[in-house]
Amino acid sequence: MDFEVGQKVELKKQHPCGGTEWEIQRVGMDFRIKCLCCGHSVMVPRARFEKSLKKSQKKPSL
Ligand SMILES: [Zn+2]
Repeated sequence: MDFEVGQKVELKKQHPCGGTEWEIQRVGMDFRIKCLCCGHSVMVPRARFEKSLKKSQKKPSL
């Protein structure tokens, strides 16, 4: 599965703030994702990111 910076994704695991929507800010071995609810960003290993992915949304149309 391909991911790109700026893509919005929904994760199964809820952030403590209650948000489940995240924006990808960096891709690679580790992903950096930002919570769209509170703006907090975290680094997560790709394998764990893919496992916690609920559904990928369409790529942003630029
Ligand atoms: Zn949050």
